[in-house]
Amino acid sequence: MSKYTFGVDVGGTSVKLGLFEENGKLIKKWSIATDKSCGGKNIIPHIAYEIEKMLSELGIEKSAVEGAGICVPGPVDKSGLVRGCVNLGWGNKRAADELEDITAIRCRALNDADAAGLGEAVYGHGGKYGSVVMVTIGTGVGGAVIHNGHVLAGSRGNAGEIGHFKVNIDETEKCSCGKCGCLEQYASATGILKFVKDNIYRFENSTLNSFDGFTVKDIAACAKNGDMLSLMAFDRAGKYIALGLSYMAGAVDPDAFILGGGVSRAGNVIFEPVKKYFGLFSFNTECEAQIIPALLGNDAGIYGASEFVKNRGGLA
Ligand SMILES: [Zn+2]
Repeated sequence: MSKYTFGVDVGGTSVKLGLFEENGKLIKKWSIATDKSCGGKNIIPHIAYEIEKMLSELGIEKSAVEGAGICVPGPVDKSGLVRGCVNLGWGNKRAADELEDITAIRCRALNDADAAGLGEAVYGHGGKYGSVVMVTIGTGVGGAVIHNGHVLAGSRGNAGEIGHFKVNIDETEKCSCGKCGCLEQYASATGILKFVKDNIYRFENSTLNSFDGFTVKDIAACAKNGDMLSLMAFDRAGKYIALGLSYMAGAVDPDAFILGGGVSRAGNVIFEPVKKYFGLFSFNTECEAQIIPALLGNDAGIYGASEFVKNRGGLA
């Protein structure tokens, strides 16, 4: 009887691995450095080695493993094909098939933002909602749409990519994607920092002037103490996030939006403007959607990847 699953979250600097029991309980968690040399060709063999090693250490037979889910920082289409991961040096790659060939364990791949969304939808505060949109606001902005346990990937794996919704048609500076005026340029940690740096000369009294260098965490702390520039930076980011959520609400009308990532950890400083502007921007009863914080932090990817391999519904 299959009792265990693995969840693997492949990132640009580290690969996180988790071993889960059938009930979703995480029983082992560890990570290894991501070997990006030679076009990232060692990454899958290294994961296979780690899985085999853990099974042998714990004396678990392969017949007791239902499968391994692997999430990656790039689009994955409905057929399971990873359609390029720049951060890993991968072009098109059948990552799950390669892992399955080495380990002889059933493997399935999905996008990392989708995995985080599925993890939060099943094991986080989203557990009580049928349909959720997860938005991860960190250095960039990622999104995922989960409906009744199914991950909406889309034809080419781009569904839910809220970070690259165009929110400013007059922007001339480029986003990381090469286009201009994406939500990510304003609402990400990078966007918040840029706004503060561009405007601090107008705020002689801002407490941020006393810092040698500052991070978004510092800006959040100053905002909580009433610093005007810091409050403006989060209000502006919240306005853009709310704009993106209102577009998402128009497309999928979810029960709840889950906000995760470093910027979301600023708490009320970001949630209050998001909720305020979402109420202003959303259509009809869409404004009734809940806006709630993520719960699983950096583990959301391994939880979601593990759940995905058990989830027969898969990508939609
Ligand atoms: Zn973009």
